[in-house]
Amino acid sequence: MEFDPAAAFDAERFRREGRAVIDWLADYWQSLPEKPVLSQVEPDGVRSQLPTHAPEQPESLDAVLADIDRIIVPGLTHWQHPGFFGYFPANASSPSILGELLSAGLGVQGMLWATSPACTELETHTLDWLRELLGLPERFASHAPAAAPGTHGGGVIQDSASSGLLCTLVAARERATALATNARGVQQGDRPLVVYASVDAHSSVEKGAMIAGLGRDWVRRIPTNARGEMDAAALARTMDDDARAGRVPCFVVATVGTTACGGIDPVPGIATAARRHGAWLHVDAAWAGAAAVCPEYRGPIVAGAEQADSWGFNPHKWLLVNFDCHALWVADRGPLIRALATRPEYLRNRATETGGVIDYSDWQVPLGRRFRALKLWMTLRMIGAEPLRQRIRDHVNWAAEFAGWLQADPRFELLREPSLSLVTFALRAGDEATAALQESVNRSGSAFLSHARVAGRHALRLAIGGTLTDRETVANAWDLVRTRAG
Ligand SMILES: *Cc1c(COP(=O)(O)O)cnc(C)c1O
Repeated sequence: MEFDPAAAFDAERFRREGRAVIDWLADYWQSLPEKPVLSQVEPDGVRSQLPTHAPEQPESLDAVLADIDRIIVPGLTHWQHPGFFGYFPANASSPSILGELLSAGLGVQGMLWATSPACTELETHTLDWLRELLGLPERFASHAPAAAPGTHGGGVIQDSASSGLLCTLVAARERATALATNARGVQQGDRPLVVYASVDAHSSVEKGAMIAGLGRDWVRRIPTNARGEMDAAALARTMDDDARAGRVPCFVVATVGTTACGGIDPVPGIATAARRHGAWLHVDAAWAGAAAVCPEYRGPIVAGAEQADSWGFNPHKWLLVNFDCHALWVADRGPLIRALATRPEYLRNRATETGGVIDYSDWQVPLGRRFRALKLWMTLRMIGAEPLRQRIRDHVNWAAEFAGWLQADPRFELLREPSLSLVTFALRAGDEATAALQESVNRSGSAFLSHARVAGRHALRLAIGGTLTDRETVANAWDLVRTRAG
């Protein structure tokens, strides 16, 4: 059988099959409450049902969808299930998913402004909208602020918070070494560049230090208090000690909303220490950042942002944009571009030469890039800021209610005050009983809780963030937790 171009890119066929796929997804969303949140398959349970070899001849969409029902769906943990309270949920919405579909259908590659101007300009513009919605300082806007001559900020969409952190880390490295490592490579043992983050900061800090060649051993983990917030005085002392010993304090990560318990580092104090040593300050607000769209939660989330060199959060966690979408802003795009830009002959073009356009491949690790701005833009436009705020308020309020129910039951202990929509708790009976409760709740199929180490305890985390989660789902989760606690 010959290749049939019509089969690969046929408008009529796409209309028909596209509708079938969209109907399939709509049915899937509606069926979610009846499905077990966690996949029940054993290792190899999916692969053992797949043919050993790729098909030689075309198969129908019907055949594929049947296998998705039979083989794939049972092997899914349903992240959009209303009872998904694990990790931080990665929520989504139909406008965002339609944006994703449009991006795939347009099939453009936005590595340079010239390779698709709309892909770049919509991204810059949407991130300016988002900066304003979050109340982030003007230094992160794409227009050069008069207040800071010589610098020029702006936003970019990355695949993940980990990538955003890595890019800002290499920018910090280049700024600290005046391009020496960019050209000559990392000089081991000479004057090590040191990275700082709290003991509760995300593991992407180590990963970034490993990839950027700074070395995992040069990541200093600064202690936190009982609320999971970095001790800024301990940070200042550690940085002073390093500087005195001839090391270079290079990069400080402040976490706004730690993964374990939602701790919010004191960014203004951290910024003072970072500034004294000329170190780059990056704020990782991957999850909590979204809540800054609500003015009443904004204060602690954006505090100190006016002194940060970069600030990032994941609209794919809590702003109804499907994975992947990390929004990253820099106050000065210069070091980032100097760290990451290459310009081979085949990418030379007039627009770039004029210096008047953004080439986003210079702001990230890969050359190629997807049109991710579409899904963010469509979510902001078709849902609107006020309903987005309301969704976040609902989640925060339900978390407070859940915490209240816990506190009224003497078997339970709230390990810290709820942080936004995250509740961290345990059974007073101890770690073993708490782990058994988690196992029992998760086996029930109607709710999923993950855990962390908080205050030395096995802590259960109820992270509310699913788009389809409602108050009743949260009340049901409490019922489940209460009745299974023994
Ligand atoms: C989720 C999270 C990350 C990692 O996010 P990715 O986008 O998956 O890389 C980093 N930091 C914090 C605080 C997070 O909550």
